[in-house]
Amino acid sequence: MLRFDVLTLFPELFRVVMGESIIGRAQKKGIIEINPVNIRDFSTDKHRKVDDYPYGGGKGMVMMAQPIYDAYLHLIKSLDYKPRVIYMSPQGKVLTQEKAIELASYNHIILLCGHYEGVDERVLEEIVDEEISIGDYVLTGGELPAMVLIDCVSRLVPGVLSDENSFKEDSLYDGLLEYPQYTRPYIFNEKKVPDVLLSGHHAKIERWRKLQSIVRTYYKRPELLKDRNISPEDIRSFEEELRNME
Ligand code: SAM
Repeated sequence: MLRFDVLTLFPELFRVVMGESIIGRAQKKGIIEINPVNIRDFSTDKHRKVDDYPYGGGKGMVMMAQPIYDAYLHLIKSLDYKPRVIYMSPQGKVLTQEKAIELASYNHIILLCGHYEGVDERVLEEIVDEEISIGDYVLTGGELPAMVLIDCVSRLVPGVLSDENSFKEDSLYDGLLEYPQYTRPYIFNEKKVPDVLLSGHHAKIERWRKLQSIVRTYYKRPELLKDRNISPEDIRSFEEELRNME
């Protein structure tokens, strides 16, 4: 069971987007829990204000420390452990499959979603263990990044996917891109499915898939192969072997 508490100004977004499909079913089955917490509910201001002008001037508004801190204290008050606290931020390390595997081993993660110009630095210093970005671009808020993180981490939690091991075949799990996939019909726009996939010969199919993974990683994301010692001659010989199999 993995529990995500999400500190956000827009809790409804999580109920809508994460309530469907695989992630929605995983919540219903109790394998994961997604608990959006409205930061505004913890504002002590009479107008429920959660942001203010930046000290030193400048554009935009900054999320105040107090409502975020009080929301966090409310979440942890009955716990006898400290959950992992992550601030979704363009200044964080970029999320990778390797990071997702690491996070799937926690049982409780708190995600903080910023908005506007960001969050008062002092509350980040108080509560945050790490900052994670979903890519080198800037979004208007941390809600989409938090949902991306929840989705990719949750599918690694045992029981979320119908086939326990299927994520191990996905792109990037072992540092390679996944092989091409096909389904019915056998012929589409005069292109047929590679016959090896219909042969029933498991060892051959496995070999074909492995070689396809390496070859397509070489062409699409060559930087992923940098530690594998695979030369252009290797790729040519893999391509030759694949042609003979198909
Ligand atoms: N002024 C901030 C800066 O330059 O670092 C950017 C603030 S951004 C407009 C508002 C919020 O969106 C951030 O506090 C963060 O929570 C979220 N955010 C924006 N881009 C993100 C990204 N690439 N990954 C994760 N969170 C992001």
